Amino acid sequence: MRDRMIQFMRGRYGSDELGRVTMWVSLILLIVYAFTGVKALAVIAILVIIVTDFRILSRNIARRSEENRWFLKHTAFISKKLHLVKQDAQDRRHYHIYRCPNCRQKIRIPKGKGRIEITCPRCHIEFIKKS
Ligand SMILES: [Zn+2]
Repeated sequence: MRDRMIQFMRGRYGSDELGRVTMWVSLILLIVYAFTGVKALAVIAILVIIVTDFRILSRNIARRSEENRWFLKHTAFISKKLHLVKQDAQDRRHYHIYRCPNCRQKIRIPKGKGRIEITCPRCHIEFIKKS
């Protein structure tokens, strides 16, 4: 069975980032449809699934790669933003983020150091915070 599947997929494009996003979009549309009963959502979800499957099974690998490249190029800002949000969440486990009361500059202070005097790196004003 597994060998037959591998044989079937030989020479076909397969999955990529664009395919994973369209699969998630169709799943979310189906979930929203399940709660709202708006039939148009189910129709759109099925069309998205058809396009996703068409791309996975396609033998025109150059064209599918080009579509994926275009998608990645035009959604790079979203990936960067998500990376920053994730980085920020990780930082908050070990650091307090304060804003300078004078210039609003974000300042990252390690947690667990007690009351400390902070000097703003931008405007050099000093203020006291608990870390
Ligand atoms: Zn400042």
